[in-house]
Amino acid sequence: MKTLTEQAQTVEDVRRLVDEHDIEFIFASFSEVRGKSNAKLVPADHLEELFANGAGFAGFAAGDIGQGPHSPDVEAVPDPRSFRIVPWQPGLAHVIGDVRVEGQEWPYCPRTILRRQIAKAAEKGYVFKIGFEAEFMLVGFDEDGQLVVSDRQDNWDRPCYDVKGLTRQYEFVTTMSKYVSELGWDNYAVDHEDGNGQFECNVTFADALETADRAVFFRYMTETVAQQFGSMATFMPKPFTDNTGNGLHYTMSLWDAGTDTNLFDDPSDPRGFGLSELGYQFAAGILEHARGYAAMVAPTVNSYKRLKPGTETIRTWVPVCMAYGGNNRTQMLRIARAGAFEDRTPDFSGSPYLGMASALAAGLDGIERGLDPGEPNTVNLHNLSPSEIAERGIGMLPASLLESVHYLTKDDVLREALGQVPVDGPDGEPSSKTEDFVDYYARLKRDEYHEVADIVTAHEIKRYLTFP
Ligand code: GLU
Ligand code: MG
Repeated sequence: MKTLTEQAQTVEDVRRLVDEHDIEFIFASFSEVRGKSNAKLVPADHLEELFANGAGFAGFAAGDIGQGPHSPDVEAVPDPRSFRIVPWQPGLAHVIGDVRVEGQEWPYCPRTILRRQIAKAAEKGYVFKIGFEAEFMLVGFDEDGQLVVSDRQDNWDRPCYDVKGLTRQYEFVTTMSKYVSELGWDNYAVDHEDGNGQFECNVTFADALETADRAVFFRYMTETVAQQFGSMATFMPKPFTDNTGNGLHYTMSLWDAGTDTNLFDDPSDPRGFGLSELGYQFAAGILEHARGYAAMVAPTVNSYKRLKPGTETIRTWVPVCMAYGGNNRTQMLRIARAGAFEDRTPDFSGSPYLGMASALAAGLDGIERGLDPGEPNTVNLHNLSPSEIAERGIGMLPASLLESVHYLTKDDVLREALGQVPVDGPDGEPSSKTEDFVDYYARLKRDEYHEVADIVTAHEIKRYLTFP
């Protein structure tokens, strides 16, 4: 197995790795605001030119990145640190870039937004480290065009950790594990998750930019490898009404930039979780901004079909309450081990760059204001009625994309953190005007809400056609 343990830092490093590993082609990619990855295939001969000038794309065709059909090209300028050898395709490498337009940083670019937020943390001496758990399902369509899990034997009520379900996908899961290890991300476990057809492949944490790049590549790799095994991988938050959803949990900590020590680690924590005061303040910041932050980490209509309390028959393992505590999966923030906490809200229906930038902004605000998350939750929150939740002083996460977007537009901290973007004049002509990125994002997401949620469904017809 050829493990790429070295992370390139410069174009010269990339050139050396390209020559050493006989790389012939490079996918030069960037992702837009909704999380779609775009790429151009560039022959390795043109590497130096690619890193100097970027790969050009018609931004309006690529997705949502603040452009119209009249706009100049976006240039995706690769970051040498994102260089990866594609494990399943000899001779191919992959790089991820930040978007520039006419040589300038483009503030609509999600990776740029995360980078800028990381720089703000660095000014205070912090490095934001984060791990992700990307859940996905292997699915397909049956003879009637119905979405089904690919493995038709995977139909138990509680398939979680089922050794036979894992064995039936042995070739797929071991291929994934080997590829993840070749990428140098140290895969430490793969399991059959709680949903039918659902898997998770765990990798170690890293600094936020590296982790967001890894998440994007991991998703691309999973979807590609699943296809090679005749299946389809979906990261959709809730593809089946009666099956557990797919999360993208973030496990977060802040580290000292000078000493590389974990600032969330405190063995003398009086609450007994091994979390420092700084860690509690960061967590309190996430809880404080949770409703607007949800629009970034649970960014589609479908996301809110996942964020529902579990029942005896449909288990969900997701938060509906803005609460924190120990190793309890019914709350938003779970402290499962000392020195870090997990946010269970995120899913993979949007951009991890925007999600992680928002998490960092919310957490830093908690530190700046010295917020305290209060006493930890110890109960099964899925069993409490809305009035019992309110009596405990616990707030609820938004129940729809429309609601979370509303809160996002009211959140001045996230508004400031996500920055300002240039806007054209009324006829598309250049102008010196700007608007907050949050307002641009809110327009996209409100339109998406109406596009998806306004459709009259078969269930609605059944429910209301002749009723009452
Ligand atoms: N599948 C659950 C979710 O949608 C999480 C299960 C777990 O704890 O890993 O977040
Ligand atoms: Mg999981």
